[in-house]
Amino acid sequence: MLFGIRTINQMKKEYKRILITAALPYANGKIHLGHLAGAYLPADIYARYQRLKKRDVLFICGSDEHGVPITITAENEKTTPQAIVDRYHELNKIAFEKFGMSFDNYSRTSLPLHHSSAQEFFLKMHRAGILKEKIEKQLYDQKAKMFLPDRYVEGTCPTCKAPDARGDQCEKCGTFLNPTDLIDPKSKISGDTPIVRETSHWYFPLGDYQQRLKDYIDGKNTEDGWRDNVIKYCQSWFNDGLQDRAVTRDLQWGVEVPLEGYKDKVLYVWFDAVLGYISSTKEWSQKNGNEKWKDYWTNEDTKYVAFIGKDNVVFHCIVFPAMLMAWNDNSDVKYVLPTNVPANEFLNLEGQKFSKSRGWGVDVDEFLEKYPADSLRYALAVNMPESRDADFYWKDFQAKHNNELADILGNFVNRTLTFVHKNFDGVVPQLYELSDLDTAFVNELSFKPETVGNLIEQYKFREAVLETMNLARFANKYFNDSEPWKTIKNNPERCSTTINLCLQAVRTLSVLFQPVMPGVAHRIHSLFNLPTTSENFSWNNAAKLELKPGTKLGIPEILFTKIEDEIIQKELDKLNVSSKSSDVQVVEIKPTITIEDFKKIDLRVATVVECEKVPKSEKLLKLQISLGSETRQLVAGIAQHYKPTDLVGKKIIVVANLQPTKLMGTDSQGMLLAASDTDGKLVFVTTAGEISNGAIVK
Ligand SMILES: [Zn+2]
Repeated sequence: MLFGIRTINQMKKEYKRILITAALPYANGKIHLGHLAGAYLPADIYARYQRLKKRDVLFICGSDEHGVPITITAENEKTTPQAIVDRYHELNKIAFEKFGMSFDNYSRTSLPLHHSSAQEFFLKMHRAGILKEKIEKQLYDQKAKMFLPDRYVEGTCPTCKAPDARGDQCEKCGTFLNPTDLIDPKSKISGDTPIVRETSHWYFPLGDYQQRLKDYIDGKNTEDGWRDNVIKYCQSWFNDGLQDRAVTRDLQWGVEVPLEGYKDKVLYVWFDAVLGYISSTKEWSQKNGNEKWKDYWTNEDTKYVAFIGKDNVVFHCIVFPAMLMAWNDNSDVKYVLPTNVPANEFLNLEGQKFSKSRGWGVDVDEFLEKYPADSLRYALAVNMPESRDADFYWKDFQAKHNNELADILGNFVNRTLTFVHKNFDGVVPQLYELSDLDTAFVNELSFKPETVGNLIEQYKFREAVLETMNLARFANKYFNDSEPWKTIKNNPERCSTTINLCLQAVRTLSVLFQPVMPGVAHRIHSLFNLPTTSENFSWNNAAKLELKPGTKLGIPEILFTKIEDEIIQKELDKLNVSSKSSDVQVVEIKPTITIEDFKKIDLRVATVVECEKVPKSEKLLKLQISLGSETRQLVAGIAQHYKPTDLVGKKIIVVANLQPTKLMGTDSQGMLLAASDTDGKLVFVTTAGEISNGAIVK
């Protein structure tokens, strides 16, 4: 059995440089904790680790700024797509900086450099005869003079007959649709009924690359750190057979198709977005006045690692490699394909999916105003959704911060430094002969960088961080077992050795924790008054006993202040409130009225005296109400929400001066006030305390 085992190092190809990309976030909303745990934190841990290994690393990202959701947001907000992407590009860039992302370049796909770069790819494929032109039928808005992308059309669902199905999908029954499937389609731009018109588009023949893509993926395996779920996902695409994909579409916002007769069309966002990695690297080269982007992208000594969330697997393992193959077949300049595509599963929040529309989320910006970025990074890392979905729980975040960061790591650093300042004048004490206990500790230290490093090389970030915290645990135990508070009195050389080794371990921890907690690592490291850029801050030297006796040490500060229960409870309360207030969706507010307009409405408090159903009606209840001086009958459409007995004796608010009417043959003298939301929930309006019938509401 043993002969068959290949060590990772023997198998590793020697790469000269590492190109790291993290999925381009879509500039149509703010990034949330789920995104951070999915693509960004693992990429940053990996990049920082490789830099500590003194490897040649380039870490690239940027905003994905094209596509229909952005133009729809712009329409809704009555502004331009550029204004939308400017806003979210800036917000997300700042959030990433606060979170400690160490991108070498953070670009955006609306830049001219990206447009020309993406057009170059399109033209290369077009001139090589790879792309196929197809004539198809699409809905056209004659008033707005434009073809309507799927989400710009609404109509009746052919499956469930829901009245407001979108052109791409019916939200009610979930059926995927083409805009031409809709019954009675309406343009969301003009409200007109669109006509069917022919339009031509270019397609990329993905199926032609199936065998080569399959060979590419088959050559990857879990021993190289490829995730099993990524490989399986690709295989299921191959089993279904790869289809032609439209490269162009009828839209104004995006990268213009560089062909005569196609000027009113743009490249499909799937085509241009992945190329954003290349143009971001080109931008980095421009800024730095070099041509090194070519080394990273077109030299086969490059290891290219593309970090993404699982929803992006098809684009990075199938579509993007196929595009690069198509380029490479027709050019002397050959791009490298991803060496690995570590895709994480999803992170949920307190057992539910993050949802912007339901208000179920945690704002990254707000989070980092209140809590340290490093604590968030640690909590997300030890709970990373690497092989299955995971959850962020507020109480768990508190526990990780208090019980692990403060009580284990913070405690070890603090007790060691405090001891040195109290007993050794704040300088590193001498190392004397090692006891068995010392030797075991030194051994444990010496193996850690390689153990943790191998886990990171295998993209097992969770385990890597757990292993690192285990070293802090072990160090605390060593401190306890060595009892320096006793040996300082009866065996000073022993005590000196113990504390020397504890300080060496503090330094080791500051290096090993640097990829996940860069801020904390630097704070600890600065206690040693060593230049951080030197070999002192390198992974390979992390466990060497390099602290020289006599080195003056800084004064320790509390690394982690505990987070109190009340603080966390507030966050939970807020989440409940915001999830309940999800009913408050953005609705059009009616035109302004004057106070005089409002005063025309006579609102009064009343008590329901009697209540019964209106015969033969599912919706109506007949109420007898007391307005104090008089009793009236009114009819309300609330039978699907209340039983008659629910209402008797209740205070309600009525419009007392509404013109009387008949509903289902029953007289109604007034109207009951009720609140309803878009989910169809309805509650009647009542008073917060006792007040007499007939009281005026104003
Ligand atoms: Zn439907």
